[in-house]
Amino acid sequence: MFNVTYRLSNSTRRKAYKTEVGALRAIWKWLVKNKSNHFKLAILYSPSLEPREFTDDSQLPFEQKQANDADFYSTQQWKELRYRAFKQYQNKCACCGATPETGAVLHVDHIKPRSKYPELALCLDNLQILCEICNIGKLNHDQTKWRT
Ligand SMILES: [Zn+2]
Repeated sequence: MFNVTYRLSNSTRRKAYKTEVGALRAIWKWLVKNKSNHFKLAILYSPSLEPREFTDDSQLPFEQKQANDADFYSTQQWKELRYRAFKQYQNKCACCGATPETGAVLHVDHIKPRSKYPELALCLDNLQILCEICNIGKLNHDQTKWRT
């Protein structure tokens, strides 16, 4: 369990979360909601770590990441590259061979993830076509190049 203590100038409240990311996201939301509050402090108690204190939403990565993602995927550069990837690598999943005809939803996947290799984000050679199921099954640390 991950316990969080939320403190405002005039109140204290505690809540427990099952996962660390759940607790961190809740802290982030709370800090955003209470942005205008003069005194705010969230303390996260994890099973095996020292308590961590948060006083500002900028200490957590959530907002930043989501905004960047939305921006990246709506750029003209990405849309053009995405089109070229489909043209070059065909309209089928490089992993399981599923196609739109067989009901697959196809994604253009970054073989080396954008979060770790931002310099390869717009590199055609770093892209492959994966169906939604294979893409979800692939974790961020898996960098298998499925296409030949
Ligand atoms: Zn697939």
